[in-house]
Amino acid sequence: MWKGAEDVKGGHCMLAWPKVCRPPELGGLGFLDLQLFGYALRMRWLWLSRTDDNRPWSQLQDTQENIVQAMFHASISIELGDGTRSFFWTDRWLQGKSIKDLAPCLCNAVGLRIQRKRTVAEGLQEDLWIRDITGALTVQVLLDYLLIWDLTRNIILHPEIPDRLIWKWTGDHTFSTASAYRAFFIGQYSIPGATILKKTQAPGKCKFFGWLVLHDRCWTAARRKRHNLQDDDSCALCCQASETITHLLVSCPFSKECWYAILQSLHWQALFPDRDPFSLAEWWSGARKRLPKTDRRCFDSTVILVSWILWIERNKRIFDHRSRSVQQLLCSIADEAVLWTLSGYKQVERLAVALGRLPGRESLVVL
Ligand SMILES: [Zn+2]
Repeated sequence: MWKGAEDVKGGHCMLAWPKVCRPPELGGLGFLDLQLFGYALRMRWLWLSRTDDNRPWSQLQDTQENIVQAMFHASISIELGDGTRSFFWTDRWLQGKSIKDLAPCLCNAVGLRIQRKRTVAEGLQEDLWIRDITGALTVQVLLDYLLIWDLTRNIILHPEIPDRLIWKWTGDHTFSTASAYRAFFIGQYSIPGATILKKTQAPGKCKFFGWLVLHDRCWTAARRKRHNLQDDDSCALCCQASETITHLLVSCPFSKECWYAILQSLHWQALFPDRDPFSLAEWWSGARKRLPKTDRRCFDSTVILVSWILWIERNKRIFDHRSRSVQQLLCSIADEAVLWTLSGYKQVERLAVALGRLPGRESLVVL
């Protein structure tokens, strides 16, 4: 993931590390983000200290971490029973909300120590919560006070039932560290094509190349020019246009000729793009929807395989000064499809057969 020597300074990684650590469906590689996982594990302590009295450490004082506390409080709500396990000022026990959310000014007029220890049962007993208010009585505090007064009139506690903590992120409402970790990614948007790539069967290095394509992180001529690494950004395959990754893999006349031949041999010529697509992912996700579900696995792997061979061809032209014709490249694609089939990726067998190869009975020709 990094380039450079042992000592790597900033700006030498392929992709920002937080993005690499996202779940695959959001476009990451699913590595564990140790900082977020640490937060999730510390939320587990908070959960156990509230739900399991048998832990000998549950009453010990612990340093409070704002981010862990905030995430924990956003993730739980209370099903009110006897009111002895829920905290009056900070927990979300009032119609799914906390007094901190409903009346922030009133809450600010209460000391932090009291906020942390006043239970709902204590607070409601003879309206003890009113005595907790020690700060300045501004107009907003009075308005908040009247609101909470109204809301707490009809609360009935059930002394025979204990309070129940509800965890928001699981079906059975009990805490799990995995769900707490995943909750940190809620609200992040996915990159186009990430979910399809996740399901696609292909050898690791080719799939990784596909991942870099989706993130537009391949060192094409256009990207190198943008980074002031070279002056000329013309395409290595056609020498006609700027070499972006979308041009190289989909829009280039040379690539288009390859794609057309391959799609035609599989009787999928209708999938050939009528206009130049915005990105490989756009064409890929649109085209696969037009296929029956049984053909999609073959198509997905074919997209990665052909893109990979086109990229290799581009590199050979630049670094080895060797170029092949479309026909030679089709042979190379057929050979690669045979190799993939023999190593277990059976979904591309159809591609190999369509290009005139019978996997297993063929002596491979290395061009
Ligand atoms: Zn080109």
